[in-house]
Amino acid sequence: MDTKAAAQVYLTRRQGSRPPAPLLSVIVPVYNEQDVLPHFLEATRPVLERTGLAYEYIFIDDGSRDGTADTLSAQLKDGLPGRLIGLSRNFGKEAALSAGLEAARGDIAVIIDADLQDPPELILQMLDGWRAGYDVVYGLRVDRSSDTLMKRSTAGWFYRLFNRLANIEMPANAGDFRLIDRAVIDALLRLPERNRFMKGLFAWVGFPAMAIPYERPARKAGTGKFNYWKLWNFALDGLTGFTTLPLRVWFYGGVLVSLIAFAYALYLTLRVFVSGVDVPGYASLMVAILFFSGIQLLSIGMIGEYIARLFNEAKQRPVYVIQDIIEGGVQTGERQTEKDADDN
Ligand code: UDP
Ligand code: MG
Repeated sequence: MDTKAAAQVYLTRRQGSRPPAPLLSVIVPVYNEQDVLPHFLEATRPVLERTGLAYEYIFIDDGSRDGTADTLSAQLKDGLPGRLIGLSRNFGKEAALSAGLEAARGDIAVIIDADLQDPPELILQMLDGWRAGYDVVYGLRVDRSSDTLMKRSTAGWFYRLFNRLANIEMPANAGDFRLIDRAVIDALLRLPERNRFMKGLFAWVGFPAMAIPYERPARKAGTGKFNYWKLWNFALDGLTGFTTLPLRVWFYGGVLVSLIAFAYALYLTLRVFVSGVDVPGYASLMVAILFFSGIQLLSIGMIGEYIARLFNEAKQRPVYVIQDIIEGGVQTGERQTEKDADDN
């Protein structure tokens, strides 16, 4: 049986074993999003109601300093289904997502940004993909014109470099916006590392995945939280977390340089025999010194990047700290109640 047919067999099997009335967890990391939250709830609730499933919001307040927590706790007290996990400070989106995955009780989870750059209507298509047997259904940004040219091209380079170096395949232009099955959540929760580069972890755990293309709109309200320095460090986390090639490449560089140096030494020695000793050589010495000190600093720096991360992993600190949890209402699926009504 070829791999395609084997994949189809798996999908069909998964299709058959989907729970009829799954609980859907909607994981939303929020950091200073008070302006956009009303829009977010207004846009997502009708879609979630349309799914006919029981659902819960899992908001992770990543140390917001504005009215985000107040807005959400008021909504939850008013009966919004789900929970608000308040972190003790800003731990970053990746840590917030880990907290969300940990808190989710659903058979399925959808990860979505609060700023409506991830269109909520897509959740319906994602559910269809899940019902068809895919364990991961991710949004693929086909149009990033809402991002600057600079952001688009640097992101493009990063995906290309990552996929060339790391031995896992990370789809370019896929964000965190996705639906994942419980099997995938459990797999993600088993990964013990502190460096939570989620896009890489998603790729690492595997499972049959389906892409849904969409156009990424601009932020509805509020401001973006990532600047280029943050993105650069994010990219470094991604690369160092998933490939050791930058560490190992210096060995080959060293071998190559030594071979060249050896050949050059041989040439110099022979030249002394042929044309005697000559003193000039300042330029070539200087070039060689500058070149090799450059390479040495670069490779030591590269090693430093890994050692710093080893240091962080070795400390075994938790990825995030929960300050408080606010429980909201409970929402049972419409479809379920309809069915119950039929039964009576
Ligand atoms: N976010 C977070 N912690 C952070 C930064 C961002 O939880 O330290 C959340 C933010 O509230 C939003 C999502 O992550 O819901 C995406 O953030 P943003 O829109 O700033 O990122 P971008 O769209 O530029 O990727
Ligand atoms: Mg955004």
